[in-house]
Amino acid sequence: MIYKERSKPIRLMMLEALTRRLSQNHPMRSRVEEDCARQLAGYKGELAAQYFIDQLPAKTLVLYDLRIPADTQGNRFFQIDTLALTPGYALVMEVKNISGQLLFEPRYDQLIRKKKDGSEEVFPDPINQVRRQSQQLKDCFAYNKLPPLPIENLVVVANPYAKITVSSSDSRDHAAVIRYTAITSRMTEYAGQFRRNVLSQKQLEQVAATLLQIHTPNKNPILPVYQLLPSDLMTGVQCSACKSFDIVKKGRGWLCHKCLVREDSAGLLALIDYALLINKKATKKDLREFLRFTSKSSLQKWLKSLGLQYEGHSTKLVYNLCLELLLSK
Ligand SMILES: [Zn+2]
Repeated sequence: MIYKERSKPIRLMMLEALTRRLSQNHPMRSRVEEDCARQLAGYKGELAAQYFIDQLPAKTLVLYDLRIPADTQGNRFFQIDTLALTPGYALVMEVKNISGQLLFEPRYDQLIRKKKDGSEEVFPDPINQVRRQSQQLKDCFAYNKLPPLPIENLVVVANPYAKITVSSSDSRDHAAVIRYTAITSRMTEYAGQFRRNVLSQKQLEQVAATLLQIHTPNKNPILPVYQLLPSDLMTGVQCSACKSFDIVKKGRGWLCHKCLVREDSAGLLALIDYALLINKKATKKDLREFLRFTSKSSLQKWLKSLGLQYEGHSTKLVYNLCLELLLSK
């Protein structure tokens, strides 16, 4: 049973918004694009692996995308891609969607990827990474006074064509990496190994509920990560067809002056960009400038039609750009 669904990570949404809003020649653009492409590949890999995970027995509680405090002060966090909780054990999975020839070298804490053109790229070793996550989860169980479950961990390669090699004399390192198609069979092996139920189904649900309660999504602003300021961002409403910012409010929808396409939700996407990149709260003046609205009354009418919550009144009015609400429209 899926206890916590996977949704598009907010970090990925922020990066996508940033690629929409940085000009082609902005010095930070290529770094943002690279980071965005990597996050997107990761997310796609997680979705591919999810197909197999969703078919696990109903008693298994699955929680996707957890970000949990790593200490009692809540200053540091650790992330888990996929956590499967069963009455006999817990399984931490780190999904990697990387193509090419993959050489895992846990001894040197590295993963080397050899691409088709012969070039190599080095990543931190996911085997060690998922073991650290397991240890952190074990500590988290202890300080949250949760019953101690044995914790297993796996690196799941979500790319069907990646060649997997593990360079290690330790058989545990070899067993630590699987391809996503093998998730179910590996969990059947674990079920044989951890036959004794440490927890009842009710206790298991309590553990899942506690983890969900302490889960803290990363909502830290993204602009400082790339040393950017709001003034680095392109303003206006973007046309999804030609990508220009020459689109204006026309009647109920939006009209692009450049390619003459009519759109229904172009302005909404601009509001989402503002909320993701700048602030969840905005005055009418902030939004008029960011969306490049010429008519105050038409902006006000449109914002009212979206049903946004607000505080204050007249010139002091501040809109609450609730992401969940905007994304649901
Ligand atoms: Zn256009």
